[in-house]
Amino acid sequence: MFLGYAIGTVSSIHSTIDLAQAGAHYGHLAIPYSYNLGGWANLQVPIASLRNGEGPTVLLMAGNHGDEYPGQVAILKLWRELRAADVAGHLILIPCLNPPAAQAATRLSPLDGKNFNRCFPGDPQGTPSELLADHLTTELFPMADVVIDLHTGGRSLTFVPTAHMHLVPDQAQRRAMLAATEAFLTDVAFLYADVAGTGLLPVEAERQGKIVITTEMGGGEVVPASVHQLCQRGLRNVLAHCGVLRGPVTSREKPVRWVQALDREDYRFAPESGLYESCVDLGRTVEKREVLGRVHFLERPDREPVAVLANADGMLIAGRGPSIVKQGDCVAVVAHDVDARELS
Ligand SMILES: [Zn+2]
Repeated sequence: MFLGYAIGTVSSIHSTIDLAQAGAHYGHLAIPYSYNLGGWANLQVPIASLRNGEGPTVLLMAGNHGDEYPGQVAILKLWRELRAADVAGHLILIPCLNPPAAQAATRLSPLDGKNFNRCFPGDPQGTPSELLADHLTTELFPMADVVIDLHTGGRSLTFVPTAHMHLVPDQAQRRAMLAATEAFLTDVAFLYADVAGTGLLPVEAERQGKIVITTEMGGGEVVPASVHQLCQRGLRNVLAHCGVLRGPVTSREKPVRWVQALDREDYRFAPESGLYESCVDLGRTVEKREVLGRVHFLERPDREPVAVLANADGMLIAGRGPSIVKQGDCVAVVAHDVDARELS
């Protein structure tokens, strides 16, 4: 008889709170790792559990990428403001999935160099990022009805503030996601494609059949007050829409504008390295072959800049953050209007 335990079948992450208990509980997930001055160190990721009566289970997260802050601020506020009595069901809060990256203002984890949003489904014997991805995949997603993952474009891209989603094939799941995305109350809702690899958090949650709600709340280092307010108001409304937060649900006065960028050509990349000049403001309507930006060459002032053109008519929904670009950096995303009635 085998009395040991099988390595790789149990998450090595320890939670200091019991998510099965009713009431409000605050603690952290302890992720083991080592560095030269800490052989038995653990990375502490704060987690709160508010559980009260009957209702859905909602897993609410931000800081998947460290340098994306409006969602982190919004969840930190909910952490302090909400009581268990405000909840119907179970609300799990993780304000920042990657604290070292947030503190370093980086997209990738300083601990292991990983892009957390390419680590799924995770690895129970992997790096800290892979361990946490595995813990979410095997422990937290299975208990959730709704998974919310709040992003911005980080330092590399700035978006028109949107709630966004994949067009999942399951019709019931898709309809629920469309309604929840609209409940975020953004002017624009965005259907996006994965043009930069696999292993995304929302894709794993979608695969498990969850209602997945994600955002791109602007981007860059400067966060306007209006974007913070939009994120916080939208998030509370989504939680009320899902039924986990008691209180009224608000609807938009005007219908949301649904747009999509599902063709790889909608994502425009720098053809060469250089100094990028944006030629179109975010949110503006563009025409096919319109110049979206130009790459200039510091070492070759005599060279004509190379233009980046719109692939089709549409709206510039995202644009480059830093002016310095490397060949292959995404510098613009062109989205196209879509009839919401055709989506569900
Ligand atoms: Zn992100």
